[in-house]
This record gives sequence, C-alpha cells and structure tokens, in this order.
Amino acid sequence: MGEPFDRKFTEYFALSEWVSRFPDLAAGFTSKEGGFSKGSFESLNMGFHVGDELDKVVSNRILLAERLGTPIDDWVAAEQTHGNRIVKASLNDRGKGAKEYASGFKDTDGFYTNEPGILLTLAFADCVPLFFIAPEKGYIGVAHAGWKGTAKGIAAEMVKAWMEEGVSPEEIHAAIGPSICRNCYVVDDRVINEMEIWLDETVEKPYNEISQGQYSIDLKEMNKLILRKSGIPANHIEMTQFCTSCDSEYYFSHRRDEGKTGRMLSFIGWKGE
Ligand SMILES: [Zn+2]
Repeated sequence: MGEPFDRKFTEYFALSEWVSRFPDLAAGFTSKEGGFSKGSFESLNMGFHVGDELDKVVSNRILLAERLGTPIDDWVAAEQTHGNRIVKASLNDRGKGAKEYASGFKDTDGFYTNEPGILLTLAFADCVPLFFIAPEKGYIGVAHAGWKGTAKGIAAEMVKAWMEEGVSPEEIHAAIGPSICRNCYVVDDRVINEMEIWLDETVEKPYNEISQGQYSIDLKEMNKLILRKSGIPANHIEMTQFCTSCDSEYYFSHRRDEGKTGRMLSFIGWKGE
C-alpha cells in the first residue's frame, strides 16, 4: 500500500483512497498551513485550549469547513484527556465544541457515528489519529491515541463499541494517521511497562532500548498491533509514513516545539444533504 494521506490541498491531507471510494465521505488530517494564527500557532491552529486567540481558531475552522463542504455547525469536538472513552455522536450533538472549547464532549478521546451530516473531529500534535470505517453498515469513527490512550486500548475500545452494534471486526477498515515517529519519540520504563499487556512472545516489539531506561517507541505500530489483536484484518489497516516532528513544514509537534504550539485536526464524516 502507498501513502494513505494525500496532500492535495494546502490545508489538509485527504485520506485519499477512502474519499475516492465514498464520494459522500470527508476524511483527513489538517496541516499547519494556510490559516490565520500567528506566532507559535502559525498558521492553521485548530486547538482552542493552547493559548491562541479564539477568533483566529474559529476562522481557521470555518476555512476548513468551507474547503470540505461540511458546515461548522455540523461538527463535534471534545475536551480530550488521554483516556479511552468513546462517544457515539448523533444529529442532536452537532455544534458541540465546534466554535468554543467549553461545549465540547468532556473526557472524550474517540467519536463514532452511522448518521450523515456530522463531522467528527479531534485535535492532535504528535499523538496518533486513528480512523475507522465499516462501509457496508455506514459506521465511521476517529480516536486520539497518545501513549496513555494507546496503553488503555482506545483502538480496541472502538472495535468493541462497534461489535456491540453488530459490526464485526472483519468489516472494519482502519487508517493510522500522521503522528510522532519511532526516532522522534523517546520514553521511559513506565511507558513501556504499560504497553506490555498488548504484546506477547510472538510479536516483534515496536520499541527498543536506546540507553539505560530510555526507549524509542513506534506508537503507530503499537496501535496497529492492537487493531490486529482486536480482529481487524492486516490488509484493512493503512499506516502513514508522515511524522509530525520530522515533517516540520507540514505539522505542529508538541515535542519538537517544546509544548507551545498549535494543533492539527483529524476529521471524518458523511456529508449531509
Ligand atoms: Zn520523526
């Protein structure tokens, strides 16, 4: 498989195979380019909670809404907490968190829906965006997996939630989006220990020790393992080569920018009439 995220537009990378197969689908990941924000947030900052001016972030979001043809009042967003709580969004939820932080879903790191007319969004700067689709039944979802969410199995939680609604793992396709790469992400024992519940003897560990108690870990690969363990077929999982830290011309990076930076947005939604 080639690179699943295609930079056709300045403002975002489209999940190109999915959107070409399903013309009513909007799915992708924003870049940091083409927006209105200044300084550390230059220029397409999508996060409300990082210290940027509110009106700039709203303008950036409206710009993306226009590019995608998905009205901003149809968006849902969250106060993300690195947990593993997933919410099924419905038409009544539209607009929550779209134009201000406070009305977003509390303590939520994943969304899914099977209704058209809702754009599911989450904010990122290094953490792993996970995209889900079960085309036959119309289910779509997105999740935020930093090391904590990864260890808490948010990828598996999405599959579990869909299974409870009658979607089998074999029907699900997943895409792992732009996030920090193995070389750029060094963690300590505490993080590695939390991952071990997902790993067994048979798999190649997605990390290696680089110095005493310090490890390089591939969070994308880690999530791929969890998706596989949840029953999604290997040939249904696509993974990007982009790194939010290495590819500095395209992305904000929390690690590279030492905390003061903007956020990209992952988004997926069936367009409404
Ligand atoms: Zn990197």
